Amino acid sequence: MMDAIQILRQLKEKGIRFTPQRQAILEFLLSTDTHPTAEEIYHHVKQRFTGMSLGTIYNTVKMLKEHGYIMELSYGEMSSRFDGNPENHYHIACQKCGRVFDYNRSFPDLEQEMESHQGFQVQGYRLEFFGLCSACLQAVDTVKTAEAEAE
Ligand code: ZN
Ligand code: MN
Repeated sequence: MMDAIQILRQLKEKGIRFTPQRQAILEFLLSTDTHPTAEEIYHHVKQRFTGMSLGTIYNTVKMLKEHGYIMELSYGEMSSRFDGNPENHYHIACQKCGRVFDYNRSFPDLEQEMESHQGFQVQGYRLEFFGLCSACLQAVDTVKTAEAEAE
């Protein structure tokens, strides 16, 4: 896998300016599997670049996504999350706390099936399971227990 400097050097050849801010944003995205929102990236990177604006984050993630180096997970009205891993992989999203976890497993048979039955060429896909993460599930259980005891 390429590191932030290698990616930014490739982009520089396409005329995109290599800045330390962009490097910091990309390094953070490549180093985490928490799928941060633009605001979370901002709070992380601003510790080093105090003058940085949220706009810089939005522009940078947009540019990185357009060039295929990162992936955007959009959630309708909720903030998008960004993933430093642009390869196909699956996600488990907690509907309570909003955390998104990676789930690494491939379904080559499913892809093959779709191509042979529908004559469709699969170029990418997004598969996400919604539910409650273990921490939120535990919190729900605690509330239920307290309610039961109060009755
Ligand atoms: Zn949760
Ligand atoms: Mn992911």
